[in-house]
Amino acid sequence: MRIDVLTVFPEMFGPVVTDSILGRANESGLLDVRVHNIRDYTTDKHNKTDEAPFGGGAGMVMFAEPISACLEDIGTEGRKLLYMSPRGKVLTHEKVLELAAGEDLVILCGHYEGVDQRVLDYWDMEEVSIGDYILTGGELPAMVLIDSVARFIPGVLGNSQAHFEESVASGLLEYPQYTKPREWRGMPVPEVLLNGHHENIHLWQLEEALKLTRERRPDLFEKYVEEHRDSMTKKEKKVLEKVLEEMK
Ligand code: SAM
Repeated sequence: MRIDVLTVFPEMFGPVVTDSILGRANESGLLDVRVHNIRDYTTDKHNKTDEAPFGGGAGMVMFAEPISACLEDIGTEGRKLLYMSPRGKVLTHEKVLELAAGEDLVILCGHYEGVDQRVLDYWDMEEVSIGDYILTGGELPAMVLIDSVARFIPGVLGNSQAHFEESVASGLLEYPQYTKPREWRGMPVPEVLLNGHHENIHLWQLEEALKLTRERRPDLFEKYVEEHRDSMTKKEKKVLEKVLEEMK
């Protein structure tokens, strides 16, 4: 998948795109992230990218023209255009899957007070938020989006099933995980994980995941019970009944 990013701070993307899993995906060609400096598309001698808003108010608003010139240069045919913005719908697991399965992406990062509305309207950009809080710029939100989408591009993660078993993607929050040593500062690893009995391990993990989700995300818990109850094995159902009983 090709992802073009428009920003006034291109250097922020360096290690995120070149290191670790995304770095390998870029090297292998599964992912092709190209970062463009909006400032390169300004035409005045000071390379200005923003001005005070019409109507007054604090901060600066980014000009439409340099953004538009950059988009024309990149080419937008058959691409999905996104603007990272706290006004957008909040990014969810479902949205990440939709984007990963869809067209190549072009992502605009705002700064200061945001961008001139006309460039969003002209290019019919979809606004995407990463949560109900405000950051200083769209670069971190864009990186969050790229990272979460890249994980679902076939081949980017080694074990393709593993990322559907993680928190939220599986419908539940993940059970607690442990590694060596078997005892750390007087705290032992739960016995059930050490005896190699796969079914018991699975049932223990399911119970822990159900309990955690019930406590922290009752919305996910309710949905999971509704969607999975009928397809559960007898033993899984017993675990679920126990967790539901504890709620009373
Ligand atoms: N004045 C804007 C508003 O009230 O909606 C906020 C501007 S914010 C300070 C600057 C830029 O950061 C935005 O243009 C956007 O690109 C990015 N940004 C900030 N918070 C964000 C969030 N929660 N999700 C996505 N992008 C965000």
